Amino acid sequence: VSRRRIVSASEYGTATRCGEKWYREYVLDQRGESTISQIRGQAVHATIRRNLRSKRDSGELLGADEIEDDVISQFRAKIENDGVRFTSAEMAEDRTKLQNTEETRSRALALLHAAEVAPDIVPTDVEVEVTSTKPLGVLRDSHLVGVLDVVDSGDLVRDTKTGTRKKSAFDVAGDVGLEMYALLHRERTGMKPRGVRLDSLVVTPTWPENSRGKLYYQPELPTLSIEDERLDARLEAMGRVVAIRDLVLGGKAPPPPPAVTGRDWWCSERFCPHTGTCPFYNRAADSGAR
Ligand code: SF4
Repeated sequence: VSRRRIVSASEYGTATRCGEKWYREYVLDQRGESTISQIRGQAVHATIRRNLRSKRDSGELLGADEIEDDVISQFRAKIENDGVRFTSAEMAEDRTKLQNTEETRSRALALLHAAEVAPDIVPTDVEVEVTSTKPLGVLRDSHLVGVLDVVDSGDLVRDTKTGTRKKSAFDVAGDVGLEMYALLHRERTGMKPRGVRLDSLVVTPTWPENSRGKLYYQPELPTLSIEDERLDARLEAMGRVVAIRDLVLGGKAPPPPPAVTGRDWWCSERFCPHTGTCPFYNRAADSGAR
């Protein structure tokens, strides 16, 4: 399947949030560096996957020392290889201190997952690349690609998120990423998963400096069952992303509008690398704290 005929789960997620960001990243191929908190999340995810691969292959989780070594080397390697994009608020701070704080947080989050989440998972698949066999909606020659992070025994698909804010059941119900995972699972096995689950790990902005700062896992979040009809509708919508990309690349349509209100969390220095050049960015509405 050629690259032009593929839409990834992450491309679709970007397209649903901001047309301008999608155009810059998936049509013009302009990607920015990650922020230090995004690098923290990427390092924690990489270590979680390594830990669960170990459990799948040998039945054993890694020891705490191995977890710490792995997450720290992932964190440092990402900074060294890919660089960091600091927000303007971070530029005014001591960046070495900031980097050390995020390294401490990445270590604590990886250990938290290893202690409170990983023991209850019986992974059957970890980080599996999937290319859909079924075409996307009306576009008969286009396909979905993506990576299924973790499949737990009993066909439960799991996704981990690390962030500074507690997630609600409402966040879980509206999570497009979880739908994407359900879709990838169905494309791979022919059956929708029994459930999809978000493992949310929270580190509040003041942890560990302030005694009121918190670091915790949210076991109370619900496991979702996503119906086939909803997945079919997503496939149709993903086909439209490929169709729009074709039109824009062929010069037959202008780039799509951004469709942001200025209050959306993703239209912020923390989550978008294009704020410095984007005419739609609303600095006044970017609290910097989201
Ligand atoms: S700054 Fe906002 S409007 Fe501009 S690309 Fe980023 S998310 Fe979209």
